[in-house]
Amino acid sequence: MLTGNGAVAWFDRYRARITSSADVLTELDRQVGDGDFGWNLSSALDHAALTVADLESPAPSEVFGAISDAFLNTGGTSGPLLGLWFGQLARQTGDPLGLPSLAAGVAAGTAAVRRLGKAEPGHKTMVDALVPATEALASAATRSRDTEAALTAAATEAARGSEATRALAGRRGRASYIADRAKGVVDPGALAIAWLFHSALDEDTKGLS
Ligand code: ADP
Ligand code: MG
Repeated sequence: MLTGNGAVAWFDRYRARITSSADVLTELDRQVGDGDFGWNLSSALDHAALTVADLESPAPSEVFGAISDAFLNTGGTSGPLLGLWFGQLARQTGDPLGLPSLAAGVAAGTAAVRRLGKAEPGHKTMVDALVPATEALASAATRSRDTEAALTAAATEAARGSEATRALAGRRGRASYIADRAKGVVDPGALAIAWLFHSALDEDTKGLS
């Protein structure tokens, strides 16, 4: 289960990670895109933090909703895609959120991103990390109610999917403009998704059970 406090702690860890590593994402986006991704992501999360700070004892859906709104109001291709992803997660209203609901929200979010962006696995986008993480979460949710174990599996698969983008040519977004020349560089969107799932577990998993 994911409590409201657990969702806030997850968000805080993710924002801290993005704030400290925005330069890494920006440099990757400079190599395969236009170099604004670190800024797009950190400014969306900074805006979300203002809303999250004002929430009193929020349910997980309120935290995810605040993140969604902030992404929808941020530029770049990633803004609307991640806004949609968190928006689907926010439609799961359990408080605390059970693992089946979390897995269902993540699956709906990933499906929405695939529909909007028309990217499939192998196209060198965030979808390359989202799809294996989503499948790992769904499969873990059918076997047990252990949210921490399920998110650990999702984080492992997201990291694997992200790293696999290094070998790929760009097929969607700006990386498609340089196609084969994007080979050798990890997709920044996929890396940001790997960090998102990893942030669910970093250091302190309080709020998960
Ligand atoms: P922009 O290219 O508009 O500057 P951002 O820098 O905000 O966009 O985001 C870049 C990331 O967006 C890429 O690293 C990739 O993961 C993701 N992306 C780009 N196009 C798509 C798409 N069609 N579907 C899914 N993800 C995409
Ligand atoms: Mg960019």
